[in-house]
Amino acid sequence: MARSRILVVEDEEDIQHIVRYNLEKEGYSVICSSSAEDALRHARTPPPDAVVLDLMLPGMDGLEFCRILRKDSATEHTPIIMLTAKSEEGDVVTGLEVGADDYVTKPFSPKVLTARIRAALRRRSRGAAPASDQPVIVVHDIAIDRQRHSVTVGGQIVDLTFTEFRILEYLALHPGWVFTRYQIVDAVRGEDYAVTDRSVDVHVASLRRKLGPARSFVQTVRGVGYRMRE
Ligand code: CA
Repeated sequence: MARSRILVVEDEEDIQHIVRYNLEKEGYSVICSSSAEDALRHARTPPPDAVVLDLMLPGMDGLEFCRILRKDSATEHTPIIMLTAKSEEGDVVTGLEVGADDYVTKPFSPKVLTARIRAALRRRSRGAAPASDQPVIVVHDIAIDRQRHSVTVGGQIVDLTFTEFRILEYLALHPGWVFTRYQIVDAVRGEDYAVTDRSVDVHVASLRRKLGPARSFVQTVRGVGYRMRE
């Protein structure tokens, strides 16, 4: 099998160096760019298997770069992992909303970064058989029957509201992925249903209470949103 090609967009030389060293050690082939403008040339010919993207770049920033990749049919599904500073939480939210898959906060452990890349590549290859067609989603000991609209935890029926059900279903379709409140609202909102950013927290709190021992699988990602533990 050909080695996966990872495009690293990072203007700080020492960070670029650390990322390259660790990814090459893991057997990836690595291309580095110091600006988004330069990276765009590498993003198309041929498209990389994944992108590691610093958000704060000279010239075009990481968010704009991310938007461009998502609009291009060659790169719309390419996994993008953002590298962000702690102070850029708002940018993480925006980044996820414009289509980045995951993020790692600087200073980061190279092990965490390579694990995130591996997970993103794995999810992408799994994406060939979309979970969205499955009648029953099973994560950990939670079983979600999408036709009957019923949920069991360890075989015991759990009584959820419509919105709680939709939130659980949405998170469970993509274990390990972080979703912002806005993305969740967008995905679960029925035509006549008023779900807002803030009320997502209330629905999730109630959902967790009802999940009992399985509650810890629905994780809060501070300042960003929620995810189902992988
Ligand atoms: Ca930077």
